[in-house]
Amino acid sequence: MEFIRRSLIHCKRRTHSIGTNSWRCNYSVKKEKVPLAEGPFPRRVVTGLQPTGALHIGNYFGVLRRCVQLQDQGDDLMLFIADLHALTTYQDPSALQDNILDVAASALAAGVDPARSVLFVQSAVPRHAELCWLLACLASHARLAHLPQYKERAQNNKEVGVGLLLYPVLQAADVLLYRAARVPVGADQLQHLQLCAQLVKTFHHRYGRLFPVPQPLLPEDGCDRLRSLRDPSKKMSKSDPDPKSRILLTDSDEVITLKVRKAVTDCNPKVTFEPESRPGVANLVLLHCLACDLLPEEAVEEADGLTTAQYKAVVARALCARLGPMRARALELRAQPRLLRDVLRAGATRARARADVTLHDVHAALGLAPGSADRTLRAANE
Ligand code: ATP
Ligand code: MG
Repeated sequence: MEFIRRSLIHCKRRTHSIGTNSWRCNYSVKKEKVPLAEGPFPRRVVTGLQPTGALHIGNYFGVLRRCVQLQDQGDDLMLFIADLHALTTYQDPSALQDNILDVAASALAAGVDPARSVLFVQSAVPRHAELCWLLACLASHARLAHLPQYKERAQNNKEVGVGLLLYPVLQAADVLLYRAARVPVGADQLQHLQLCAQLVKTFHHRYGRLFPVPQPLLPEDGCDRLRSLRDPSKKMSKSDPDPKSRILLTDSDEVITLKVRKAVTDCNPKVTFEPESRPGVANLVLLHCLACDLLPEEAVEEADGLTTAQYKAVVARALCARLGPMRARALELRAQPRLLRDVLRAGATRARARADVTLHDVHAALGLAPGSADRTLRAANE
């Protein structure tokens, strides 16, 4: 909990009040310098995690870990819990609330520091939805309907919700709202970011330059698409109906060991790293690498003489050791919902102020609601 303690000390210096309970903190945005609307764009990274379930190791190694590294290097990290995106499929309202707090606890446990970064829930900043509408007016239906994730779901369902079609536009709004130049994501999001870049170009062509063209940041160690443990042709996903397909950040050592033991490999007992021809075994090698900071050839060398069944025990032990401390922190934080809500509320206040500045410029560029934008900006700066 050292990082939260540091955050609280930091908050104490820059905010008015901290509750007597040391976990409760009233962050303030009053002293925050709202980024300039013109001139160079802020050194900012933005990304989102859907509260469609507890986070898994694909979310962690693919995105969350990178976010924390960027934060620690001095980047301005904005991490949001994408509850509006989650609504593209039905979510039980009380499960959604729980999942939001689960994701918040895991993000903090992974090292997101609310004194340096902004952690918030997407729906608490209505400007996301507003900018989504404005960008939707620049997007073509044919382009959206052509995106692979939409086509895949449209194939399997007779009635596809409009939300699913608009999802990538909302994603573009999430990024542009904060004028982020870089977006840490897994490989499944690349096409959505290409759409975002296209929308930026259309916007600039019609209304003038307001945004940086966002670049995706993929993890460099091969985990931009960790595979499902049960079907290595698919990526590991929160929404996969088989819970054994993913390892959650909150799984116990016993559960991790069981899931790794049940991971689908093939009938060759030798451990090799051949992602194309032996994706299940390569996935195990990758997990070993991620847990122990190894290169694939080093992991394969360590596995020399072991069968894949014996190697699974090595991988499981390595994962338990790597994830254990983070799980303990996440569980400790999850037991403090008021603290989590305070952090999210404070994050949303900061995010709203930044979003207001961007929308002020967008309104002015589009010729919308003369005068109202000025009032909004004044409110953001007060
Ligand atoms: P869902 O099944 O509900 O879509 P998900 O597991 O895909 O959940 P998201 O919340 O949609 O998780 O994605 C959050 C971030 O994690 C995105 O940037 C996404 O690219 C990344 N991500 C998701 N799954 C993986 C994975 N298997 N490997 C690497 N990165 C991943
Ligand atoms: Mg996803």
